[in-house]
Amino acid sequence: MVIRAAEDAVADMAQARAEGPASEARSETTPMSDAVDHDGPAATRLVIFGRQGAGKGTQAARLVEHYGVIHLSTGDMFRAAVADGTELGQQVGPIMESGGLVSDELTIAIVRERLAADDIVADGFVLDGFPRTPAQAEALLAMLGDGGLHAVIELEVPLDEVTNRMKARAREDDTDESIAKRLALYDTETVPTIDWFRERGLVVTVDGLGSEDEVAERMTDAIDKALAGR
Ligand code: ADP
Repeated sequence: MVIRAAEDAVADMAQARAEGPASEARSETTPMSDAVDHDGPAATRLVIFGRQGAGKGTQAARLVEHYGVIHLSTGDMFRAAVADGTELGQQVGPIMESGGLVSDELTIAIVRERLAADDIVADGFVLDGFPRTPAQAEALLAMLGDGGLHAVIELEVPLDEVTNRMKARAREDDTDESIAKRLALYDTETVPTIDWFRERGLVVTVDGLGSEDEVAERMTDAIDKALAGR
Protein backbone atom coordinates (compact mmCIF):
# COMPACT_ATOMS: atom_id res chain seq x y z
CA MET A 1 0.00 0.00 0.00
CA VAL A 2 2.75 2.39 1.02
CA ILE A 3 4.85 1.35 -1.93
CA ARG A 4 1.89 1.80 -4.26
CA ALA A 5 1.28 5.31 -2.92
CA ALA A 6 4.95 6.17 -3.37
CA GLU A 7 4.94 4.80 -6.91
CA ASP A 8 1.94 6.92 -7.73
CA ALA A 9 3.79 9.91 -6.35
CA VAL A 10 6.80 9.22 -8.57
CA ALA A 11 4.55 8.62 -11.59
CA ASP A 12 2.72 11.87 -10.84
CA MET A 13 6.00 13.71 -10.52
CA ALA A 14 7.18 12.38 -13.85
CA GLN A 15 3.85 13.29 -15.40
CA ALA A 16 3.93 16.76 -13.86
CA ARG A 17 7.45 17.31 -15.15
CA ALA A 18 6.40 16.17 -18.61
CA GLU A 19 3.40 18.48 -18.68
CA GLY A 20 4.42 21.18 -16.24
CA PRO A 21 5.93 24.63 -16.53
CA ALA A 22 9.44 23.28 -17.14
CA SER A 23 8.49 21.71 -20.46
CA GLU A 24 6.35 24.71 -21.35
CA ALA A 25 9.36 26.94 -20.80
CA ARG A 26 11.47 24.68 -22.97
CA SER A 27 8.84 24.59 -25.70
CA GLU A 28 9.30 28.35 -26.16
CA THR A 29 12.75 27.74 -27.56
CA THR A 30 12.41 24.16 -28.73
CA PRO A 31 9.32 22.99 -30.58
CA MET A 32 7.58 20.33 -28.54
CA SER A 33 7.84 17.88 -31.42
CA ASP A 34 11.64 18.15 -31.31
CA ALA A 35 11.70 17.53 -27.59
CA VAL A 36 9.88 14.23 -27.76
CA ASP A 37 10.16 13.16 -31.38
CA HIS A 38 12.07 9.88 -31.59
CA ASP A 39 11.71 9.60 -35.35
CA GLY A 40 14.71 11.70 -36.34
CA PRO A 41 16.87 10.11 -39.03
CA ALA A 42 20.20 9.98 -37.22
CA ALA A 43 19.62 8.48 -33.82
CA THR A 44 19.69 4.70 -33.47
CA ARG A 45 17.43 3.10 -30.88
CA LEU A 46 18.26 -0.41 -29.68
CA VAL A 47 17.56 -2.91 -26.94
CA ILE A 48 20.09 -5.61 -26.00
CA PHE A 49 19.32 -8.94 -24.33
CA GLY A 50 21.66 -11.68 -23.19
CA ARG A 51 22.06 -14.16 -20.36
CA GLN A 52 24.44 -13.35 -17.55
CA GLY A 53 27.85 -14.36 -18.85
CA ALA A 54 26.86 -13.82 -22.49
CA GLY A 55 28.99 -10.68 -22.79
CA LYS A 56 26.09 -8.25 -22.89
CA GLY A 57 27.95 -5.48 -21.02
CA THR A 58 30.96 -5.70 -23.34
CA GLN A 59 28.84 -5.72 -26.49
CA ALA A 60 26.62 -2.87 -25.24
CA ALA A 61 29.82 -0.82 -24.90
CA ARG A 62 30.70 -1.70 -28.52
CA LEU A 63 27.28 -0.44 -29.63
CA VAL A 64 27.92 2.85 -27.84
CA GLU A 65 31.22 3.17 -29.70
CA HIS A 66 29.85 2.15 -33.09
CA TYR A 67 26.54 4.02 -33.22
CA GLY A 68 27.26 6.90 -30.82
CA VAL A 69 24.23 5.92 -28.76
CA ILE A 70 23.81 6.34 -25.00
CA HIS A 71 23.93 3.24 -22.79
CA LEU A 72 20.85 3.11 -20.58
CA SER A 73 20.78 0.47 -17.88
CA THR A 74 17.82 0.42 -15.49
CA GLY A 75 19.97 -1.55 -13.02
CA ASP A 76 22.55 1.29 -13.07
CA MET A 77 19.81 3.90 -12.74
CA PHE A 78 18.34 2.14 -9.71
CA ARG A 79 21.78 1.56 -8.14
CA ALA A 80 22.61 5.25 -8.57
CA ALA A 81 19.33 6.19 -6.87
CA VAL A 82 20.17 3.87 -3.95
CA ALA A 83 23.70 5.32 -3.68
CA ASP A 84 22.30 8.88 -3.72
CA GLY A 85 19.69 8.01 -1.10
CA THR A 86 16.87 9.53 -3.16
CA GLU A 87 13.20 8.76 -2.58
CA LEU A 88 13.34 6.36 -5.52
CA GLY A 89 16.44 4.72 -4.05
CA GLN A 90 14.70 4.17 -0.73
CA GLN A 91 11.85 2.45 -2.53
CA VAL A 92 13.86 0.21 -4.81
CA GLY A 93 16.78 -0.61 -2.46
CA PRO A 94 14.98 -3.32 -0.46
CA ILE A 95 13.41 -4.79 -3.61
CA MET A 96 16.80 -5.11 -5.31
CA GLU A 97 18.36 -6.57 -2.18
CA SER A 98 15.73 -9.29 -2.02
CA GLY A 99 16.41 -10.17 -5.65
CA GLY A 100 12.93 -9.13 -6.74
CA LEU A 101 11.87 -6.98 -9.66
CA VAL A 102 10.88 -3.36 -9.29
CA SER A 103 7.24 -2.89 -10.33
CA ASP A 104 6.45 -2.30 -14.00
CA GLU A 105 4.69 0.94 -13.10
CA LEU A 106 7.69 2.49 -11.38
CA THR A 107 10.25 1.15 -13.87
CA ILE A 108 8.26 2.39 -16.85
CA ALA A 109 7.84 5.84 -15.28
CA ILE A 110 11.61 6.14 -14.76
CA VAL A 111 12.43 5.03 -18.30
CA ARG A 112 9.77 7.26 -19.83
CA GLU A 113 11.27 10.28 -18.14
CA ARG A 114 14.82 9.42 -19.20
CA LEU A 115 13.87 8.73 -22.83
CA ALA A 116 12.36 12.20 -23.17
CA ALA A 117 15.66 13.90 -22.30
CA ASP A 118 17.32 15.91 -25.08
CA ASP A 119 20.57 13.90 -25.16
CA ILE A 120 18.71 10.62 -25.63
CA VAL A 121 16.44 12.05 -28.31
CA ALA A 122 19.46 13.44 -30.18
CA ASP A 123 21.90 10.52 -29.84
CA GLY A 124 19.64 7.47 -29.49
CA PHE A 125 20.18 4.67 -27.00
CA VAL A 126 20.89 1.06 -26.26
CA LEU A 127 18.63 -0.14 -23.48
CA ASP A 128 20.09 -2.78 -21.17
CA GLY A 129 17.99 -4.47 -18.47
CA PHE A 130 14.79 -2.92 -19.79
CA PRO A 131 12.27 -4.07 -20.84
CA ARG A 132 12.21 -7.16 -18.65
CA THR A 133 8.53 -8.03 -18.89
CA PRO A 134 6.09 -8.01 -21.83
CA ALA A 135 4.22 -5.14 -20.12
CA GLN A 136 7.42 -3.07 -20.11
CA ALA A 137 8.02 -3.99 -23.77
CA GLU A 138 4.54 -2.84 -24.70
CA ALA A 139 5.05 0.44 -22.83
CA LEU A 140 8.37 1.02 -24.61
CA LEU A 141 6.87 0.64 -28.08
CA ALA A 142 3.98 2.88 -27.11
CA MET A 143 6.46 5.55 -25.96
CA LEU A 144 8.53 5.37 -29.16
CA GLY A 145 5.70 4.98 -31.64
CA ASP A 146 5.68 3.11 -34.95
CA GLY A 147 9.19 2.49 -36.25
CA GLY A 148 10.66 4.16 -33.18
CA LEU A 149 12.66 1.11 -32.10
CA HIS A 150 15.12 -0.11 -34.72
CA ALA A 151 16.34 -3.47 -33.42
CA VAL A 152 16.31 -5.79 -30.45
CA ILE A 153 19.59 -7.70 -30.15
CA GLU A 154 19.51 -11.19 -28.70
CA LEU A 155 23.05 -12.24 -27.82
CA GLU A 156 22.93 -15.99 -27.96
CA VAL A 157 25.37 -18.16 -26.02
CA PRO A 158 24.56 -21.81 -25.20
CA LEU A 159 23.57 -22.52 -21.61
CA ASP A 160 26.53 -24.82 -20.89
CA GLU A 161 28.95 -22.15 -22.12
CA VAL A 162 27.52 -19.36 -19.94
CA THR A 163 27.38 -21.79 -17.01
CA ASN A 164 31.11 -22.50 -17.44
CA ARG A 165 31.92 -18.79 -17.82
CA MET A 166 29.96 -17.96 -14.67
CA LYS A 167 31.62 -20.76 -12.69
CA ALA A 168 35.02 -19.48 -13.78
CA ARG A 169 34.32 -16.01 -12.44
CA ALA A 170 32.00 -17.00 -9.57
CA ARG A 171 32.40 -15.77 -6.03
CA GLU A 172 33.13 -18.40 -3.39
CA ASP A 173 29.58 -18.35 -2.08
CA ASP A 174 28.22 -19.07 -5.56
CA THR A 175 27.12 -22.67 -5.80
CA ASP A 176 26.26 -24.58 -8.95
CA GLU A 177 22.70 -24.35 -7.73
CA SER A 178 22.65 -20.58 -7.31
CA ILE A 179 24.22 -20.13 -10.76
CA ALA A 180 21.62 -22.43 -12.31
CA LYS A 181 18.88 -20.50 -10.51
CA ARG A 182 20.07 -17.13 -11.80
CA LEU A 183 20.33 -18.48 -15.33
CA ALA A 184 16.88 -20.07 -15.13
CA LEU A 185 15.37 -16.68 -14.26
CA TYR A 186 16.35 -15.49 -17.72
CA ASP A 187 14.20 -18.18 -19.32
CA THR A 188 11.14 -17.50 -17.20
CA GLU A 189 11.44 -13.72 -17.09
CA THR A 190 13.26 -12.46 -20.14
CA VAL A 191 12.65 -14.99 -22.91
CA PRO A 192 8.89 -14.22 -23.05
CA THR A 193 9.81 -10.55 -23.48
CA ILE A 194 12.19 -11.35 -26.35
CA ASP A 195 9.48 -13.51 -27.92
CA TRP A 196 7.09 -10.59 -27.68
CA PHE A 197 9.50 -8.52 -29.79
CA ARG A 198 10.15 -11.48 -32.10
CA GLU A 199 6.46 -11.61 -32.96
CA ARG A 200 6.81 -8.00 -34.06
CA GLY A 201 9.78 -8.73 -36.33
CA LEU A 202 12.26 -6.69 -34.30
CA VAL A 203 14.67 -9.35 -33.02
CA VAL A 204 18.15 -9.78 -34.43
CA THR A 205 19.77 -12.93 -33.03
CA VAL A 206 23.56 -12.78 -32.81
CA ASP A 207 25.84 -15.76 -32.15
CA GLY A 208 27.78 -14.73 -29.02
CA LEU A 209 30.54 -17.33 -29.35
CA GLY A 210 33.98 -16.19 -30.45
CA SER A 211 36.24 -13.23 -29.73
CA GLU A 212 34.83 -9.87 -28.62
CA ASP A 213 35.72 -8.39 -32.00
CA GLU A 214 34.11 -11.23 -33.93
CA VAL A 215 30.88 -10.95 -31.96
CA ALA A 216 30.85 -7.14 -32.27
CA GLU A 217 31.29 -7.33 -36.05
CA ARG A 218 28.54 -9.93 -36.41
CA MET A 219 26.28 -7.79 -34.28
CA THR A 220 26.82 -4.48 -36.10
CA ASP A 221 26.46 -6.21 -39.50
CA ALA A 222 23.10 -7.63 -38.42
CA ILE A 223 21.94 -4.29 -37.01
CA ASP A 224 23.04 -2.40 -40.12
CA LYS A 225 20.90 -4.74 -42.19
CA ALA A 226 17.93 -4.06 -39.93
CA LEU A 227 18.58 -0.31 -40.11
CA ALA A 228 18.81 -0.39 -43.89
CA GLY A 229 15.33 -1.86 -44.04
CA ARG A 230 13.71 0.79 -41.88
P1 ADP B 1 20.94 -8.25 -12.86
O1 ADP B 1 21.36 -8.58 -14.24
O2 ADP B 1 21.87 -8.74 -11.80
O3 ADP B 1 19.50 -8.53 -12.55
P2 ADP B 1 20.54 -5.35 -13.31
O4 ADP B 1 21.65 -4.40 -13.15
O5 ADP B 1 19.96 -5.47 -14.65
O6 ADP B 1 21.16 -6.68 -12.73
O7 ADP B 1 19.35 -5.00 -12.29
C1 ADP B 1 19.56 -4.96 -10.92
C2 ADP B 1 18.21 -4.96 -10.20
O8 ADP B 1 17.46 -3.79 -10.55
C3 ADP B 1 17.29 -6.12 -10.59
O9 ADP B 1 17.56 -7.27 -9.85
C4 ADP B 1 15.92 -5.54 -10.29
O10 ADP B 1 15.64 -5.55 -8.92
C5 ADP B 1 16.09 -4.09 -10.71
N1 ADP B 1 15.73 -3.88 -12.14
C6 ADP B 1 16.57 -3.52 -13.15
N2 ADP B 1 15.91 -3.40 -14.31
C7 ADP B 1 14.62 -3.71 -14.05
C8 ADP B 1 13.43 -3.80 -14.85
N3 ADP B 1 13.45 -3.53 -16.17
N4 ADP B 1 12.27 -4.13 -14.24
C9 ADP B 1 12.24 -4.40 -12.92
N5 ADP B 1 13.31 -4.35 -12.12
C10 ADP B 1 14.50 -4.01 -12.66
